[in-house]
Amino acid sequence: MIDAEHFRSLLEDERDRILRQMESRRAEIASIEATLRDLHVDDQNPEGASTLFEISQETSLLAHQTELLGEINEALARITDGTYGNCLECRQPIPQDRLEARPWTGYCIDHAIRHRPRTPQH
Ligand SMILES: [Zn+2]
Repeated sequence: MIDAEHFRSLLEDERDRILRQMESRRAEIASIEATLRDLHVDDQNPEGASTLFEISQETSLLAHQTELLGEINEALARITDGTYGNCLECRQPIPQDRLEARPWTGYCIDHAIRHRPRTPQH
């Protein structure tokens, strides 16, 4: 039997942590963009290129966090409706140690790969 409240608090902590990170990341991107405008740099000079690279890195991390946040919210919804802890594909219980490591996961190890081929392991 899954201790749903334990995982609910894990998920809520993780969600709060990600929301804080996303906030500072957005501020970071805004400040880099402001610097770019002030300097009138573009990708034709080395400083502009590295700054644009930095923005693209931050933006892709932000996109990744947005996706993770969606998974966390879905997991919290599954706790509410009582389906949390079972694989969405085969309905078998997801091993406890896997849930401890990735409490937002909706799939057992066998099915995670098939469903999320491009999501890096967290
Ligand atoms: Zn499965």
